[in-house]
Amino acid sequence: MRESIRRICLLDRLLDVIWPRRCEVCGRPSDRSARYICSDCLNRIAFIPVNGCCRRCGRDAVGLDGEFLCEDCRVFRPGFDRVASAVRFDGEARELVNAFKFRSSMWLRNDLVDWLEGVLRARFRIGEIDLVLPMPSTTARLWNRGCNQCGVLARPLARRIGKPCGRFVMRRKGRPRRQGGLGEAERRENVIGTFAVVRPSQVRGRTVLVVDDIMTTGSTLSECAAELKRAGASRVWCVTLARSLRS
Ligand SMILES: [Zn+2]
Ligand SMILES: [Zn+2]
Repeated sequence: MRESIRRICLLDRLLDVIWPRRCEVCGRPSDRSARYICSDCLNRIAFIPVNGCCRRCGRDAVGLDGEFLCEDCRVFRPGFDRVASAVRFDGEARELVNAFKFRSSMWLRNDLVDWLEGVLRARFRIGEIDLVLPMPSTTARLWNRGCNQCGVLARPLARRIGKPCGRFVMRRKGRPRRQGGLGEAERRENVIGTFAVVRPSQVRGRTVLVVDDIMTTGSTLSECAAELKRAGASRVWCVTLARSLRS
């Protein structure tokens, strides 16, 4: 394993020399090995602060330090125990996440997994995670995009933190309407009963980390986590690349 990683690193360095990567944002050669976002552009990305966030849904509040429990989490009690997101779904970060999610720009994977790993190490006790799970795709989306993008992020993320990544543990069922354009209450209604845990023995009594791309109101993550809890998971933590400004 270590040998193959070393070989990949060497290949990356060789590629940097013979075929320099261009920054996905500004188009200049990237100054970061094996990465498609240069350091200048990376410095302009709107990362979410790791302090002053709701300890459950991860919403940040200007001027607050430390952790708190926000009004929404007190009232609606989401199914997850903790969520943290790397960036605001805005500006260049929005373009990059959309390029990965909708235009299959798979080469951005290493850069985006860096963001996930950063927020994970800052906001979670990694040693307590037992299993990493990608947010499952609906069948229609799998057909459209050819693969589950969350799986593309979850597998290398799990490898980096030395945890197993579950496959076919959970699936989507039924055909929920698209969440886009729905209000908060409708979103919550729309996702009820749309997840099924196929292998409950893999989650029973465990702390599960769900990896998703964009969090808007959190209703999909909440329902996913609630289903994992019904299947016996002891804690469900979630990490997402981006958080929409609407939440
Ligand atoms: Zn750049
Ligand atoms: Zn909250």
